Amino acid sequence: MICVPIAATTNARAKEELARAAEAADLAELRLDYLQEPADLGFLLEGRRCPVIVTNRCVRQGGLSALPDVLRVGVLQEAVYLGAEYVDVEYNSIGHLRERLGAKVIVSYHNFEETPQDLYAIAQMLVGTGGDIVKIATYVNDITENVRICQLAAWLGVPKIVLGMGPKGLVSRVLAKKYGSLLTYAPLEKDCATAPGQLTVAEMKNLYNFEATNAKTRVFGVVGKPLAHSLSPHIHNAAFRHSGMDAVYVPFVVDEFEPFLKSVTCIDPEGFSVTIPHKEEAFRLSDEVDEVTRKIGAVNTIALRGGRVIGKNTDWEAALFAIKTALAEGESLSGKRCLVLGAGGAARAVVYGLLEEGAKVTITNRTASRANALAKESGCAAAPWEDRGRVAADIVVNSTALGMYPAVESTPYPKEAFRPGTVVFDAIYNPRRTRLLEEAAEAGCRTAEGLEMFIRQAVLQFEFWTGVRAPIDVMREAAIMAFDTLAETR
Ligand code: NAP
Repeated sequence: MICVPIAATTNARAKEELARAAEAADLAELRLDYLQEPADLGFLLEGRRCPVIVTNRCVRQGGLSALPDVLRVGVLQEAVYLGAEYVDVEYNSIGHLRERLGAKVIVSYHNFEETPQDLYAIAQMLVGTGGDIVKIATYVNDITENVRICQLAAWLGVPKIVLGMGPKGLVSRVLAKKYGSLLTYAPLEKDCATAPGQLTVAEMKNLYNFEATNAKTRVFGVVGKPLAHSLSPHIHNAAFRHSGMDAVYVPFVVDEFEPFLKSVTCIDPEGFSVTIPHKEEAFRLSDEVDEVTRKIGAVNTIALRGGRVIGKNTDWEAALFAIKTALAEGESLSGKRCLVLGAGGAARAVVYGLLEEGAKVTITNRTASRANALAKESGCAAAPWEDRGRVAADIVVNSTALGMYPAVESTPYPKEAFRPGTVVFDAIYNPRRTRLLEEAAEAGCRTAEGLEMFIRQAVLQFEFWTGVRAPIDVMREAAIMAFDTLAETR
């Protein structure tokens, strides 16, 4: 179930939001401690169209009510008399609730600083208080703590709500139903959240397909840092939904890849997209990789099968796909002179892709030693960064970060050097039309966008994980829609 927390400051506003919550979700939580006037419970509860949890959270447990416990819980007692379906009482003040009548009592523990090691002991202590439903909400400082939260939820044999708070707790909120949590909290709007890391109802429903998740839902995700604006959950969840697959794709904000990979296997994920800064570490930790991936030395896709980590690079094929969108029909890359700007992870993938197609590659990079090393390793030429505009090229590829949001005025290539007909590909996809591409198009070049590469690498990942043909148009549409929404919010 999705529960909308209501943190209004007046009874009138709370009543209005309660009506909206009933339209959008399964139940609502009335946070009386947010009210800046005495709670009018008769008014609030009368004629409600969804079940409610009534909560009057004390300051010690992250709420705003400074009332003595006996008075604070007394308000909840009144809610019970008025027929509230649920009341949420902190574990250390449950003794003040004298009668339950038909209400279910959620006995809760909050920790806004950490996810303690002794979660199981805390859970047992809560069970011992005699509440009907046990609630544990703890702050997630490290992504691996989600695993402990999900394991606790799966283990606890009583009705429970177990959630991780904070941006890194998102995983436990999205997977709440899979691990047996009775509900997840999701506000109607972002600025109405009552705990850090809550996703909105719309995000839970439309992006993560929360209502369809269940114990058997397969788990995939993206591993990287930062991930706040990642398009990947939009693309992959749209693909799963369209293909009728019982699967969900979540962002894992990971600081250290190795401990993450070791602990996450406990919740049986099937695959990950891997992004900055973990692609090389993912390569190192893979038990198996194919030949091209071995040459590239970076893994952007992981499948977990039978306890083995299978690493793959889909960036190179995706870059080739994007470059080819700008070629004429029947035109091949074989023998083409390609200038690759950059010598980082994206450049490595592009260089190996171009070489696979028989292109002649020259690498240039701000740090010459990196260009020289990649050139030597891959058997290409290298050129000084200052000379990049003088290298004869049929194809120019930007795989540096120059021109990426927010530095959209930067460009890695002098516009005077463009020749009409040259193919120019920019791996950057934020913004979609970089200054490089705009200047190239003005000079009569053929251009290809990084977003095509991004979509393609996701398409190849989907097919690698599922063995099912990816719904490419759906994935492209989801990427563009998410991208446009992101651009609007800036
Ligand atoms: P990376 O490994 O960190 O490499 C960054 C590259 O950019 C290096 O060659 C670096 O040169 C160069 N660079 C950074 N700042 C520069 C500056 N001010 N002047 C000149 N060169 C500069 O990153 P990456 O993974 O290769 O990613 C590079 C770009 O490709 C990013 O914009 C990323 O978003 C994009 N990308 C796109 C896709 C896609 O699917 N479309 C996939 C992967 C990456 P030095 O060696 O001198 O530092």
